[in-house]
Amino acid sequence: MTGTGILKGMAVTARNFIGSYFEEDRLTTVQYPEERTPLPENYRNFPFLVYDGDDAHAGLRCVACQICEKECPPQCIYITKSKEKKPDYVGKPQFYPAIFDIDISVCMSCQICVEVCPFEAIKMDKVFELSTPERFDALLLGKEQLAKSNAYYHQIHPAEAAKVDAALAEAAAKKKPAAPAAASATTNAPVKPPQP
Ligand code: SF4
Ligand code: SF4
Repeated sequence: MTGTGILKGMAVTARNFIGSYFEEDRLTTVQYPEERTPLPENYRNFPFLVYDGDDAHAGLRCVACQICEKECPPQCIYITKSKEKKPDYVGKPQFYPAIFDIDISVCMSCQICVEVCPFEAIKMDKVFELSTPERFDALLLGKEQLAKSNAYYHQIHPAEAAKVDAALAEAAAKKKPAAPAAASATTNAPVKPPQP
């Protein structure tokens, strides 16, 4: 019958409108920007680069493998490799990005860069207030703006960051050389002659 869809739609709207006065988790508006509603853990917008410890250069997890650059659908990541290497989280010498840019105005928040990174080096941020009156380059973020600490990662995605830390700690433990067994040390020790 003509108009059934409209009536059904109005019924859904009326149900939600009236229900919003009685349901516990009713949707409300807030006086933004003075008030803000907390964002859920899995909220995401643009990527950032994670560094461990306090030093954004020494602790940067990215090893400039360029996988994310190749996989990014709109090609908004640009990376160049360093000439020298620095130790990664297990002490293995690795390249690092001399340049790591993301054009946030092109990024479509797909998270593919995060999924393909083998080093847990790039994660999704929650910062959304990035508008600018500039038409060019103002949203081209460099390594310095993209690098954020692991402590920050824990603040915005606590459960996910804890899982990543555990996985990295496990990987680091596996790569450490095993301590020599006490038995073999005893076997190889020179035998002292019996004292008179
Ligand atoms: S989130 Fe998607 S579009 Fe944005 S930089 Fe990563 S891969 Fe590219
Ligand atoms: S963020 Fe990850 S995938 Fe991208 S270059 Fe760095 S280590 Fe490679």
